[in-house]
Amino acid sequence: MRVTSDFECGNGKSIRRVAPGHWSLEEVGEKAPYCKYFCVKVEAGDDGGPVRLDIYPDPDLGEEGRVGMLAHYPAPLWFCEGDYDHWVRLTHRWPGVERYGPECVSTRVVVPPSGALTVASNVVLPYTRLVAWAARMAERGAAVDSLGKSHEGRDIPRLHLPATGRGKPIKALLLSGQHPSEHCGPLAVCGIAEFLLSAHPEARAIRERCDAWLVPMINPDGNVHGRNGWTLEGVNQCTDFAGVCDGAAPKAVEDRLLWDWLSEELRPDLSLHFHGYLGTHNFADPPCDGCYVFERPERLYSSPERLEQYRAIRDALYWDTPGLSARSRPGTLSPDMLEWGLAARFGTLVPFYEINHAFHGVQAARRKGADVFRALMRALP
Ligand SMILES: [Zn+2]
Repeated sequence: MRVTSDFECGNGKSIRRVAPGHWSLEEVGEKAPYCKYFCVKVEAGDDGGPVRLDIYPDPDLGEEGRVGMLAHYPAPLWFCEGDYDHWVRLTHRWPGVERYGPECVSTRVVVPPSGALTVASNVVLPYTRLVAWAARMAERGAAVDSLGKSHEGRDIPRLHLPATGRGKPIKALLLSGQHPSEHCGPLAVCGIAEFLLSAHPEARAIRERCDAWLVPMINPDGNVHGRNGWTLEGVNQCTDFAGVCDGAAPKAVEDRLLWDWLSEELRPDLSLHFHGYLGTHNFADPPCDGCYVFERPERLYSSPERLEQYRAIRDALYWDTPGLSARSRPGTLSPDMLEWGLAARFGTLVPFYEINHAFHGVQAARRKGADVFRALMRALP
């Protein structure tokens, strides 16, 4: 039996066999609370059999890291057998195997002889699979190119689905992947592309009036290296946009590419941005999703028409999606976020949605993306 993490999106260190069929590992975190993601491969020899895994917090982050990881639990763990398109909760196959202690999270899997499982805190969409997916979307009619190169030289896939109608379209940005462990976000944006390319009558109607630009994974290096939240340059992209309206440049190269394109060329009417988070602790009703809004939108939108549209899409998040099911109230968008810069500079409508990836498998995340987008488009004239 072997437990490893040295593969794309892998996260786990100090992996060791404690006893026959019993392994321990430490999560690799960046800075609390970005220290909850793990992803390891469990490979059987000829025999196979049960394997217990104890997943400990990153000791380099101290007590803050311990709390930062374990506060995300209880939350169901996930596994896949080979194909990353289909992940299953561990407790669906092996009821009752998860234990959430004050020191570590424990679980148990059974690996078939010569078989292998990937076990992770949530479903995983590796960058190479996203690139292959984008190529398939190109065959179905999407224009696919690169926003530019990441810090480590990876192309950042960008898809364009031009409006099919004759009127002035809504220019929409669909964005995700700032925090790489929140794989539900890129899956949600992929879901929007697939929905829009489908024969669904609502998709056809949306495409007539919407010029859709999709950037599903803005932090590809973080994805490949199995990071929780930060780029390889050590930047939290979510708060990298302070002062962009006044000419300040974001720190991360990926964010500079994004802001330059958005501010100099696209100037979107709508920016739908997906994040994810994990857990059940202190959250209310399944699916425990969240959303972020402006506390005082009237200070950002100078046009009464845009202000009214912002209130409409905000209320669509409240009433047409489960965006308040986690905390029963929204989070607040802050001046250092992309949303603030876009709204202040271009009057962009900026719905921001958090999917709880403890409760979303691959298809649930993809469909959540399309569902949220459809709800917003219904609310816009
Ligand atoms: Zn996030």
